[in-house]
Amino acid sequence: MHDTCKPDPIAALDAEARRHGARIATRCTRCGAWLVDPKSRAAHRGPKCRKAVSA
Ligand SMILES: [Zn+2]
Repeated sequence: MHDTCKPDPIAALDAEARRHGARIATRCTRCGAWLVDPKSRAAHRGPKCRKAVSA
């Protein structure tokens, strides 16, 4: 995996954190839950909240 042209800086941080058995998380902007799934993390929305408020 090359990380020279990664568009997501969090992905690089997450890879580093995972080496230490940790996770990078962001918070859901709607309910405040911590998100560790890459898609949810990038969207700052959990799966449920992404369904509840589409677009
Ligand atoms: Zn949420």
